[in-house]
Amino acid sequence: MFSNKENFKQAFLQKLEMMCGKSFGESTKRDQFSTLGNMVREYISTEWINTNECYRTSKGKQVYYFSIEFLLGRLLYHNLLNLGIEDVVKDGLKDLGIDLCALEEIESDAGLGNGGLGRLAACFMDSLASLNLPGHGCGIRYKHGLFEQKIVDGYQVELPEQWLRHGHVWEVRREDLAVKVPFWGSVDCKEENGELLFRHIDAETITAVPYDMPIVGYKTETVNTLRLWNAEPSAYPVHKDILKYKRDTELVSEFLYPDDTHDEGKILRLKQQYFLVSASLQSIILSYKKQHQCLHAFHEHISIHINDTHPVLAIPELMRILLDEEGMGWDEAWHITVNTISYTNHTTLSEALEKWPVRIFQPLLPRIYMIVDEINERFCQHLWEKYPGEWKRIESMAIIAQDQVKMAHLALVGSYSVNGVAALHTDILKKREMNSFYQIFPGKFNNKTNGITHRRWLLKANPLLASLISEGIGDDWIWEPNKLIQLRKYEEDRSFLQQLFQVKQQNKTRLASRIKEKTGLVVDTASIFDIHVKRLHAYKRQLLNILHVMYLYNRLKEDSSFQMHPRTFIFGAKASPGYYYAKKIIKLINTVADKVNEDVMTKEKLKVVFLENYRVSSAEEVFPAADISEQISTASKEASGTGNMKFMMNGALTVGTLDGANVEMMEKVGSDHLFIFGLTAEKVMEYEQQGGYHSLDYYHHDKRIRQVVDQLINGFFSDVDGEFEPIVDSLLMENDQYFVLRDFDSYVNIQKQAERTYENQDQWLKMSLRNIAASGYFSSDRTIREYAEDIWKIKSI
Ligand SMILES: *Cc1c(COP(=O)(O)O)cnc(C)c1O
Repeated sequence: MFSNKENFKQAFLQKLEMMCGKSFGESTKRDQFSTLGNMVREYISTEWINTNECYRTSKGKQVYYFSIEFLLGRLLYHNLLNLGIEDVVKDGLKDLGIDLCALEEIESDAGLGNGGLGRLAACFMDSLASLNLPGHGCGIRYKHGLFEQKIVDGYQVELPEQWLRHGHVWEVRREDLAVKVPFWGSVDCKEENGELLFRHIDAETITAVPYDMPIVGYKTETVNTLRLWNAEPSAYPVHKDILKYKRDTELVSEFLYPDDTHDEGKILRLKQQYFLVSASLQSIILSYKKQHQCLHAFHEHISIHINDTHPVLAIPELMRILLDEEGMGWDEAWHITVNTISYTNHTTLSEALEKWPVRIFQPLLPRIYMIVDEINERFCQHLWEKYPGEWKRIESMAIIAQDQVKMAHLALVGSYSVNGVAALHTDILKKREMNSFYQIFPGKFNNKTNGITHRRWLLKANPLLASLISEGIGDDWIWEPNKLIQLRKYEEDRSFLQQLFQVKQQNKTRLASRIKEKTGLVVDTASIFDIHVKRLHAYKRQLLNILHVMYLYNRLKEDSSFQMHPRTFIFGAKASPGYYYAKKIIKLINTVADKVNEDVMTKEKLKVVFLENYRVSSAEEVFPAADISEQISTASKEASGTGNMKFMMNGALTVGTLDGANVEMMEKVGSDHLFIFGLTAEKVMEYEQQGGYHSLDYYHHDKRIRQVVDQLINGFFSDVDGEFEPIVDSLLMENDQYFVLRDFDSYVNIQKQAERTYENQDQWLKMSLRNIAASGYFSSDRTIREYAEDIWKIKSI
C-alpha cells in the first residue's frame, strides 16, 4: 500500500471510509491522522512479528532497558522516515490536498519524561533498532506525561498533560500478557525439608497490563518493542473499600513525577518503581521460560540495564524470583543477579541520589525489604573483613544506614557494570563521589558518553541541512555519522558555506514565524539567535544568562556609543512544580523580556523570548535555528548534557563551561571552534571543599554585577515588589552556590568574543561547518555500540 503514490492514495481513502465511517470530504484532520497512523502501524506489524519470531528462535542474548522515563515525542514522521515511505506518503497526501506537516501536528507528544534522562532512553531505542540489536524498552504508561506549561503574567502555570485523550495509534494493548504486582501484606516463613520458604501473603495486588509500541529501525527490517505498563485493579476484593482501591491502583500509572532531581519521598513513587520492575521481570521470565527449562544460565541470555537508580529494585526482585520461586540458594541467585544487571549513573548532585526511609519501604514491600537487608548484611560483612574496625567507612557505604535505603549503593553492589555518561562525569564518580566503591569494585566502572539519534535530530528536524550535507558528501553519513567529517573539505568553499548560511536563515525564519504565532513578537532573523533550552535548574544557570541580558540592556541605555550585534535571546524551560527558586527565574526571564522588548531605544538590538511548554516537538524546531548554544552549567554539575550535542549537530556554536560532554565536544572539534569560559570542575570542587569563594566580593568590586543584582530589588522592574528577593539572597546571603557571580566577567567576555566572531561571517560559517563535521561521534549509534560491545555483549541480528 506504500509501494507507490497511487496505491497509497487508494488505500488511504478506503481505510479512511472504513475507519471513520464518513467520506473523505467530511473527514477532519484528526480522522486523516488516525487513518494514516493506523495504516502505518499495520504496515509495521508484519516485521514486528518477524523480529519477535527471530528473537525467539535465535537464542542470542537480549537486553532490556528499564527506565522510569521515555521522552519519545511524536512518532508519525519519525516512523515514516525510518520505514523509508515519507516521500510516497507526502506526495500522495499532497494530491489529496493534505499537508503532511499539518497532520503531523495533530499527534500529541508522548512526553513520558522530564528531560535528558528520558530523552536518552528514547534515542537509545531508536539506535538499538536501527543497528539491528535485540534491545527492548520497559517503562510506565503514565496517563499524564510531563505537565503542560502555560505562562500567565510571567509565571509558570501547570496543566495536566493529556496525550491519551484521543487514544494513541502506536500502542497495542496486550491484556493476554498482564501480570500481577503485590504490595503491602506480610511475609510468611516456614520450614520445609530443612529449608526456609518465604511467601508474601495478604498482599494487595495491582494488575499490570502491557501496552506495546513498535520501535522501527531506520530502513532495516528490525522492529523492537517498547513495553509500557498500565496499572489496573485486580479482581475486586469483597470487603475492601472498592472505590479507594480502584483509585489507589490507577494512581500508580497516573502521573510522571515532575521532578528529575529532588525526591519528594512519596510512597507512590516507590510503588511506581516496584511496579515497573516487577511487571517487566515477570514478563521477561515468562518469555524466557518458553525457550529455557530453568534460570541457571539466565545472565548468559539476558542483560537488564537500569537507567539511573529508579529501577534498582530489579536487583532484589530478581533475587526474590530466583530464591522463592526457583528455589535457588543465595550464592547462585546472587551470581546470576549481579551478572544480569548493569547500571547508569546520571548525576553527582548528592540531593538527587535516591534514598527511602525504611518505615516506608518495609511495609510496602516486605519481602523485597528482607532481601535488601540480607544483601546489606553480606556486603557489610565483606567490608568488615576488608576494613576491620573502620566503622565510619562501612556506615558510609552501607545500603541501609540511619533507617534509609540507599538506592545508588544497592545499584553499585548488585550490578556488574556502572557507567557514567561523559568522561568528566565518570572521572568525578571514580575519584570523588563513588570513590570508596571504586576502590573495591574498580572493574565495574566505565564511561559511556551520551549521544543523540542523528536521525531525529538532524535528518528529521533539519531536512534542509540534511540535504545540503548529502549533496556535499553523499548520504552514507546517515548510516555512518562519523562520515560527517568529510564536510571539512568544504571549509574554504565559499559557495558551500553560503548555502549553509541560507539553510540556517531559513530555519531561523521558520522559528521566527513560530515565535510570532505563539507570542506576537517579531524577531529579526539577522540577529544572533542565542538559545538556552533545557529544564530549569539552578545549576544550569539560566540566571547567568538573563543577568547578562540585563547587563547588555544597561549598556545600551547608558552608553550611546555601545556597539552590539542585534541578538535574540530565546529561552525554553519547565520548572518542577515544587521548585520555588526555579519558578522565580522563569518569572525573572519573563519580566526582563517585557521590559526589554517594549523599550523603543533597545528593541532593534535586543529581544528576549520565552517559549512556552518546551518539549521534544518544539525542540525539533529550535535546534536547527540556533546560532549560539548556551551550555553554561556550573562545571562538575552537568553529568553529560545532550542538548549540547543536538545544537552542535545543527551547526550552532557553543558558549559553554568545561562541563559534561562539552569537554569532549571541545576535544573533537578543537578548542578554537567553541567558546569556553568559566571555572573548571576542579576549581569548583576545590571551592566546595576548601572554601575561598565570597560572592559579596564580586558584588562589591564589579559594578556591572552590582547594578544588575540591585536592579532585581530596587524598583527597576515595576509591579514586582519583593519578587526577586530570593534570587538576591541566594547570590549574596547564601554565597552563590552555583558561582554565577564568579563566572560573570568571564561570561561577558566570551559572549563579546562570540559576537565579534559572528560578524566575521566567513569565519563563523567555517566554525559552524567544523562543528557539524565533528558531531558524528555524538550519535547515539556510537554510544549504543559501546554499550552493546562492552557492557551487554549483544550482537546484531
Ligand atoms: C535533549 C532534551 C533535553 C536535555 O537537554 P539538556 O540541555 O541536555 O539538559 C531536555 N528536554 C528535551 C525536550 C530535549 O529534547
